[in-house]
Parts: sequence; C-alpha cells; structure tokens
Amino acid sequence: MFIGHAAVALAAKKAAPTTSLGTLLMAAQFIDLLWPVFLLLGLEHVRIDPGNTALTPLDFYDYPFSHSLLAVVVWGFVFGGLYFAARRHRTGAVVLGLLVVSHWVLDFLTHRPDLPLAPGSETRVGLGLWDSVAATVIVEGLLFAGCVVLYVRTTKPIDRIGTYALWGLVAILAVIYSMNVLGPPPPDTGVIAYAGNASWLFVLWGYWIDRHRAVRAQALSPAS
Ligand SMILES: [Zn+2]
Repeated sequence: MFIGHAAVALAAKKAAPTTSLGTLLMAAQFIDLLWPVFLLLGLEHVRIDPGNTALTPLDFYDYPFSHSLLAVVVWGFVFGGLYFAARRHRTGAVVLGLLVVSHWVLDFLTHRPDLPLAPGSETRVGLGLWDSVAATVIVEGLLFAGCVVLYVRTTKPIDRIGTYALWGLVAILAVIYSMNVLGPPPPDTGVIAYAGNASWLFVLWGYWIDRHRAVRAQALSPAS
C-alpha cells in the first residue's frame, strides 16, 4: 500500500490536532522509512519478480525487522514513546504509535502472504488485495479520498501556501501512485533501496503544510 498510509496520516490529524502532519506522516510511513535503510545495510532483502502480484513486481521475501507484526508493534512503542518523552503529549503519542501499527494492518490487507509475524517466524500472512488492480485502486482510492476530505474538514489554510501545498501533495501522491500501478518494474534492487529514502520528502512536505494550516475550531470541540 502506498497512498493508503498517507491517507491514514491525514485522517489522524482529527484525533491528534496538535501533532504536526509531518510527524503523523512519519509514523504512518515509519516502517517503509526503515526498510530502504535495512536494504542498504543488507539486513533485509527484496527481489524483482514481475507478476509477483498484479500490483507490484517486488517479492518481499525477507523483511522481518521492518515488517514483521512483532517488530512493528515494538516500533510503534518506540515511536510513541520518543514522542511522549519529547512532548509530554499522551494523545499524540498514542495516535502516533497506532499509526505505526496501522501500516502493518494496511500492508496485511494488500500484500500476498509475505508478512512475517515475528523475526524468525515461518508464518507469513497477507490478504492479497494486490492480486487485483481494480480492487486495489478502488479500495485505496476511496480510502485516500475519504481521508483527504476528513483532513480538509479538520484544518483550514491560513494563507495560500496552506491550500497549494496540500493539493500539491495530494496531486503528486496520485501521480506517483498511478506510475507505480502502470509503470515498468524498477531496473534493480539498488534503485529501490535508494529511491525508498525519497519518502522522507513527504514527511518534510507534511511539516510544511502543517505550518500553513490551522485546526478548525469545530474540529477541536468534543461535540463535533
Ligand atoms: Zn510497508
């Protein structure tokens, strides 16, 4: 899943209005930010295998430290715990921890059974939504659209950048997503590892958007 992770980060702004969208995006993508680093370090491995599923040419055969359920729960506690240590903000910490774990849940929905339960475990799970391009695009597209609407209802622009930066991000995510679905497989695994680090760009973009948008008053009141 790709835009689905950004989607839940946008939606989470309503649950943690004082937490920056940049931090929410970092949490939702966190294990995909670790993954390219672990690939470069040789701790984890991926293979290019066109047709592995209808949606991705990648065979995620070895990624226990970034993508096993146990590891992701640990990363969730680490992420939430560091945030709590820095900000003393319990709701934000809980939401961020849950966002880290949400990544695994969304990957579980889309991946073929390649997600290990724990490092060293032979049990691998995944519901395989990626076997169908149409089903994936519908599910992920609706999730993304719904979460963007929720984010727009939760925040409002305080200047023009607040509008353009948000819609620019939405547009670029949609374009990259289409390229992923329609484009050719990557030339080699080195490209995947290096290009994967570009996800940090969206985190920085999130901080930029957040500085130019304010939380709407009604989104803060418990009655809403
Ligand atoms: Zn992932």
